[in-house]
Amino acid sequence: MNYIYEFDIAACALMIMFSVLLAIRKNFPTYSNKLYACMLAGNLFATAMDLVTVFTIAKADTLPLWVNYLTNIVYLTSFNGCAVLYYMYVLAITKENRTTRLDRAVAIAVITIDVVFISTTPLTKWIFFFDEENNYCHGPLMLLLYVTAVFMLFYSFLISVKYRHSLTKYQIVSIVIFNLSLIGAIILQAIFSDILLQGFACSLYLIVVYVSLQNPDDYMDKTTGCFNQYAFNKTLEKHIVKNTPFTVLSFVPDDFQYINCILGVKNTNELIDSISVYLMNEFNAQNVFHLYGCRYAVMIDENTGDLDSTVFRLKAHFAKPCVINGTEVQLSPKMCFINYPDFANTPEDITDSLEFCLKTTAHDESNELVAATEEALVKKNRENQIVHIMKRAIQNNEFKVYYQPLYSTEKGRFTSAEALVRLIDPELGFIPPDEFIPLAERNGLIAKIGELIFRSVCEFMHRSDIFKLGVEYIEVNLSTVQCMQENLAPTMLSIMKEFSIAPNRINFEITETAHSINDKTLINTMNALIKEGSTFSMDDYGTGFSTANYLIRLPLYIVKIDKSILWPAMKSEEAMNVLKHTVMMLKSLNKGIVVEGVEDEAMASLLIDMGVEFLQGYYYSKPIPEQSYIEFLQEHQG
Ligand code: C2E
Ligand code: CA
Ligand code: CA
Repeated sequence: MNYIYEFDIAACALMIMFSVLLAIRKNFPTYSNKLYACMLAGNLFATAMDLVTVFTIAKADTLPLWVNYLTNIVYLTSFNGCAVLYYMYVLAITKENRTTRLDRAVAIAVITIDVVFISTTPLTKWIFFFDEENNYCHGPLMLLLYVTAVFMLFYSFLISVKYRHSLTKYQIVSIVIFNLSLIGAIILQAIFSDILLQGFACSLYLIVVYVSLQNPDDYMDKTTGCFNQYAFNKTLEKHIVKNTPFTVLSFVPDDFQYINCILGVKNTNELIDSISVYLMNEFNAQNVFHLYGCRYAVMIDENTGDLDSTVFRLKAHFAKPCVINGTEVQLSPKMCFINYPDFANTPEDITDSLEFCLKTTAHDESNELVAATEEALVKKNRENQIVHIMKRAIQNNEFKVYYQPLYSTEKGRFTSAEALVRLIDPELGFIPPDEFIPLAERNGLIAKIGELIFRSVCEFMHRSDIFKLGVEYIEVNLSTVQCMQENLAPTMLSIMKEFSIAPNRINFEITETAHSINDKTLINTMNALIKEGSTFSMDDYGTGFSTANYLIRLPLYIVKIDKSILWPAMKSEEAMNVLKHTVMMLKSLNKGIVVEGVEDEAMASLLIDMGVEFLQGYYYSKPIPEQSYIEFLQEHQG
């Protein structure tokens, strides 16, 4: 038979060029990458062997028969081996570390069938044989080889469909299209056995796989050339699955934000580049990861030395200043490490523990090596638990609102109260709002919770007779995230309407951050509510920057001076001056003033003498439940 083998030559040339390109670029050593390299090498070998068999079959008259048997056996085994490699590759990218015994058994069974039938063919003549005239002939079971190859491809295809959620849509489409075309090519080959098509079809397929499934850039940090956070996670995962002990050292220059501000973006990037180059040269580049900003991780396993020597080398390097564009920068890195196996057993837990350790390492500890502790994970666990409790509390309306009376010094009675949310869980007990409100903000729950609190306040005002007991309005806290919402005013107004509460019965408390984050939305919301009669207070004055800017810009009715201004005033003359001048300044701006944290009579009389209009604090009452609040009012002004 005359074979058309030009496709095989083109395939070999294509794969050699492609292999060279891959070899010179930095590749992340994952299992799927290694399998991909094996597929490429395997396919190149099988195609080359195909060409060799064309030659040996043509020379069958002159060559010893065993040479022809051997070359054909090697060719057929390697070619069918490629289908099995491809199957393993699909398993690696879809199921990652979750391959089962059955998965492996399928591969072993197919290889065994192929090898047994192919290698015994000189005796059985089942797959191929040479007739009396030394012609190469297909045996009765030649088709079996095509069947096992197609089976492997089809089975891989089914796996990729089943585990499609671990692939992108684009990857699934390319697998489907090209798998089917490869199966088509094999069937064609079975029909037209003189055209050697398979090698070429496979090489095209491998290039498509590279483009659609192999994403080497996913692992690379393009600016520094280091491996990135994703690669770091994959490396951790690999070690954890194998259960091999390792240590990770993570570090960041102390005061990096400050360095960034002073040096500017361009110089800071140069600084990061120079650190990356140093790390990749000093340590094995495969063990160096640039996480983000100027944060790095170095993986220390049995091949890369120990923690002490790594730290020693880093310290020696950073003892000298870095020179960036002629400017000397002295860096002192904060360094944290974690051992596996220890308390953190997932990539996420390891990353979180290191991150928390670096964040909480004090300035004076920089240049010291600190061990990550379980604290971050305990905190994370509690946070997850609280988020779960909040979701349940939203569903079952379990949030309670307590009221803390505000004393009007002018009227000599309690004209208002601040509504303060309470969350009590049977297991965790009282959860402070300072703890769960920020979590609700980060988890997208605050809008719903804020609405529930406001409903509860309006419903209480509607149901009780607090107005008859001398209360004029209730103060309601708005979280910064609520203030960022465009529809806050209409939502609040419709709730007030539902319970027939006049908007002037509500004073909303906002904080400085609400102003700094989205000034425009906030002012629109404030104006819309003020138009209907509500008023606004600035909460926690004195805890932030307390700039004059927002006092002038925002339509504020009241400013609430924080306890951190009041309490020190009772102890030092300077702090007393701060309090006095704050009160005077706010008065000159015609703002009403509330002072919070009034805990004893001395504080109360001092503030009354200063002419502060409203006082709030434990001296008068702690925040109390609805019924106690009504009793409090009845007792004091009934
Ligand atoms: P905040 O708005 O500054 O509330 C005043 C906090 O000071 C309350 O703590 C109150 O119990 C406490 N306090 C009042 N008087 C005294 C005193 O004399 N001495 C001392 N040591 N503390 C006093 P609480 O209820 O734990 O609330 C903490 C923070 O949680 C609030 O600070 C507020 O930022 C937030 N929060 C509470 N309820 C809500 C709410 O319904 N919505 C929103 N968005 N945040 C709320
Ligand atoms: Ca408040
Ligand atoms: Ca406050």
